[in-house]
Amino acid sequence: MLTLLPPQFRLDFAAFRVLSLGHWQHLVTVYFGVSGRDIKPMQLIFLGPPGAGKGTQASFLAERRQIPHISTGDILRDAIAGKTALGIQAQNHVEAGELVPDLLIMALMRERFGQSDMVRGWILDGFPRTLPQAHALDQLLSLFRQPYPRVVHFESSPDILVKRMLARGRKDDNEDTIRRRLDVYQEDTAPLIDFYQRRRCLTTVNGNLSVDEVARTLEEALLQAQCSPPV
Ligand code: ADP
Repeated sequence: MLTLLPPQFRLDFAAFRVLSLGHWQHLVTVYFGVSGRDIKPMQLIFLGPPGAGKGTQASFLAERRQIPHISTGDILRDAIAGKTALGIQAQNHVEAGELVPDLLIMALMRERFGQSDMVRGWILDGFPRTLPQAHALDQLLSLFRQPYPRVVHFESSPDILVKRMLARGRKDDNEDTIRRRLDVYQEDTAPLIDFYQRRRCLTTVNGNLSVDEVARTLEEALLQAQCSPPV
């Protein structure tokens, strides 16, 4: 078969055959900027207080890995701007810094998990945010035969969070609403840290660092992070 090829192709073909798996992984690393052993689909939950940088890191990582970045906050803001049924039901809650009712969010996520791009992997940013939502996610994972995700907890100090949110200047980023969102985080969302820690799926990164530093520590953490939920 080799002899049928013109001479200039023979060398390439031979080179193709002698490259070991390690070489291929290296080429993938150079070409895509990711480690060859980490290009399998990636399922992640980003957990952390408002302003911790989850959204920024999620959009970078999703772009690099070409996987969907699912931000419930963005979906709700779009729905509010578009005055859809979801937006109309969510608007007062979002603008007051309160959580949108669990049932609305669960319906939204069930719809999202049914979309075909989810097979490539995903990053959930802003969901789950309550224990009932975490249980609902467990059910969605088994319904859609999705692997158990790794959970990245972005830890940040409150004064840095407030400063960042004030600088960002979103409609729900005034001082009263920010304070309320931080309280809601402590009451409703922080218990999820323990929930996922007990499932041995939690990795913590320092969200106080600069955007680039967080991105670097996140990539390192992901190389080691495992998830082995007790069955
Ligand atoms: P933040 O930076 O405050 O975390 P998000 O963009 O994630 O901002 O969310 C903005 C608002 O959208 C929240 O304050 C809340 O009202 C609503 N929201 C987003 N995700 C959820 C969720 N999973 N459950 C209930 N409400 C949510």
